[in-house]
Amino acid sequence: MLKQYALIKAEHPDSILMYRLGDFYEMFFDDAVESSKILGITLTTRNRNDPNPVPLCGVPFHAVEPYIAKLVDAGKRVAICDQVEDPATAKGVVKREVTRLVTPGVILDATTLDAKRDNFLAAVEVKDDGYDLAVVDISTGRHEAGGCSSWGLLIEELTRCEPREILIPTSIPEGHRQELAIRFPAMLQTSWSDGVMAYLEQTQRGSIRHLQEVRPLGGGRTMRLDEVTKRNLELVTTLQGEERTGSLLGLLDRTKTAMGGRLLRSWILSPLLRHEEIAGRLDAVEALMGTPATLATLTESLAAVYDLERIASRVAMGTANARDCVALARSLEPVPAMKALLLDLRIQNAGLRIQDCGEDIRERITRTLVDDPPIGLRDGGIIRDGLSPELDELRKIAHHGKDVIAGIEAKEREATGISSLKVRFNKVFGYFLEVTHTHRDKVPHHYIRKQTLVGAERYITPELKEYEEKVLGAEEKMLALEYRLFCELRDEIATCVRRLQQTARVLAELDALASLAVIARDSGYVRPEVVDDMTLEIVEGRHPIVERMPMQERFVPNDVMIGDAEGRLMMITGPNMAGKSTVMRQVALICLMAQIGSYVPARRARIGLVDRIFTRIGAADALARGQSTFMVEMTEAAVILREATRRSLVIIDEIGRGTSTFDGLAIAWAVAEDLATRVKARTLFATHYHELTELADTLPAVHNFHIAVREEKGEIIFLRRLLPGSTPHSFGIHVAKLAGLPADVISRANHVLKELERGKPL
Ligand code: ADP
Repeated sequence: MLKQYALIKAEHPDSILMYRLGDFYEMFFDDAVESSKILGITLTTRNRNDPNPVPLCGVPFHAVEPYIAKLVDAGKRVAICDQVEDPATAKGVVKREVTRLVTPGVILDATTLDAKRDNFLAAVEVKDDGYDLAVVDISTGRHEAGGCSSWGLLIEELTRCEPREILIPTSIPEGHRQELAIRFPAMLQTSWSDGVMAYLEQTQRGSIRHLQEVRPLGGGRTMRLDEVTKRNLELVTTLQGEERTGSLLGLLDRTKTAMGGRLLRSWILSPLLRHEEIAGRLDAVEALMGTPATLATLTESLAAVYDLERIASRVAMGTANARDCVALARSLEPVPAMKALLLDLRIQNAGLRIQDCGEDIRERITRTLVDDPPIGLRDGGIIRDGLSPELDELRKIAHHGKDVIAGIEAKEREATGISSLKVRFNKVFGYFLEVTHTHRDKVPHHYIRKQTLVGAERYITPELKEYEEKVLGAEEKMLALEYRLFCELRDEIATCVRRLQQTARVLAELDALASLAVIARDSGYVRPEVVDDMTLEIVEGRHPIVERMPMQERFVPNDVMIGDAEGRLMMITGPNMAGKSTVMRQVALICLMAQIGSYVPARRARIGLVDRIFTRIGAADALARGQSTFMVEMTEAAVILREATRRSLVIIDEIGRGTSTFDGLAIAWAVAEDLATRVKARTLFATHYHELTELADTLPAVHNFHIAVREEKGEIIFLRRLLPGSTPHSFGIHVAKLAGLPADVISRANHVLKELERGKPL
């Protein structure tokens, strides 16, 4: 047996092999050691007295799914090895085969999947002119593919899609593999040279017919967002703790359905570049905000909608249970009313695009399934009474078998006139009629005698035997029939998957749009004007997340104008903690929000379409990867200077720290100059090098701003106002005092500062 195990394991060296043995799936050797830890189950040994005992652990076969899920969740690949011949008739070791491969990119299990996130499997192919990338989410049927002309673009697409697993050809250089592992630690790498479909076929024995039409990758249609910017702007997770709460997604996501949540997340990670598309979403949000009653009805209806997209996929792959189908029917219930409601409103033509309300599907499901079916499909109780006469009859027999027998008893008593006649049961004869000897002469001819006892005779009749067969077989037949009827229903729905997906898509869009309308209404956002020139005019802009944080002070809105005439580079100075970072991030977030079609936190905003947002902020995360602050800064600056265009928005929050002051200043100076004169991108540049403010004297594109503070009796008060001009000093010592540096050290620092300013050697 272990020989067979070794052979199969050799074919799946990088999977955890679950080997069916009796009522258990067993894992051996290293697999056992590793999975016992992940699963929290006991590790034992086989052949304990052997000099080399075999480590072993196992899980019961009937409850294997949650264990598989846990392993996959831990980033493992699992190969399920089943017995493929009947152990009773097998000669020697029962034949076994791997029947299923489960990996993070191909899970369907609802308890493991994050409901509000796509679960993409990516596949890369190396081409002469770059890379081909395909991403597939089998849990929803989403499918995108396209070419990436460089490794950098490929990384950006991966950043946007956030795949759980990637198939890469062996020809990819080791350095690239390592880069992928560092950039996307949660993404499992699988070596694979065929295409992605072959992988799906190998891992999924079920059908993958529900895969939607291939859509082109974001490239060109949507804004390129690099990983640094995605993280720095905290688009989907916070920098600290990687939490969703506190991120832009956490703020904007008021969706009612899982599919709406997934869509909104993908919108945030792929802002639009085309006016018509942006205007289309903004029009929809405006229409929803303009009709509060519709918005309320819509969100209420959406709250009743389950994850249609994923249920449809499970139906297509034959893994949906009866509860899924009932959930599907319930989800379709509000659709006709929603369609009617939307026909009058210009919300992305939603009313028209819901071509199919799936009323036939809903009717078929409700007619077939009980309201609250169990999860299991083999234990019955799924199908409604009255659907199948055959099933009803079987149920009657199985459930009311006793009544029927009692009925037979009464009938026979009457026919024979033997009032003491009894129908009884034992294991040897099954059902029989018992008549005491006193009444022996009244027994009719068709009774067949089976046994004579001291005081009585036992008989059977053909009718009784026929009935007995029915009763005893009924239960089994009933369960089989219920299962068959359910599968018929599921197969029938599976033929309608495309229709369901289309409806689901419109509902997801409505949900995401309604979410944007709700947050805009609740937070007092305005509709941004998105224009074609290079304007950036934000009046009384706010940081959408900071403004909602519980704070002592009220959030102070700020204006930012970097239109053509106003110049292109804002050099921002001001003490630490004054609010430089906040104002710069808020500008970036407002531009991004506008381009996903959201209203923005400002009194007025006019935004010339941005082709890319670049950020150079902090370096905490890269430090953890062992790169120096300075190296990270320089790498990021290099990317910006190489790739930013006139249409880009560049946010630089300090540059040139981590090296000698003069080096740092010199580099910061040259970078600012290049951005202002050659790149000409709209740039917000915060610095503590006061010397940089001199650039404004010679370069017309550079304008100085500062964040105002007031000094009062040796204390500084943060005013949070962004004003033209630069600040004289940095107030670093004040901030140090605020932070609680000892009074002696503070006074000594003040002294040293004065001496330095006077140019006196210490
Ligand atoms: P800096 O980048 O200048 O060091 P930050 O932008 O990090 O400063 O701001 C420090 C803190 O000041 C923020 O965490 C926030 O609590 C507060 N803050 C910043 N801007 C504002 C504002 N406009 N209104 C109110 N509080 C603000």
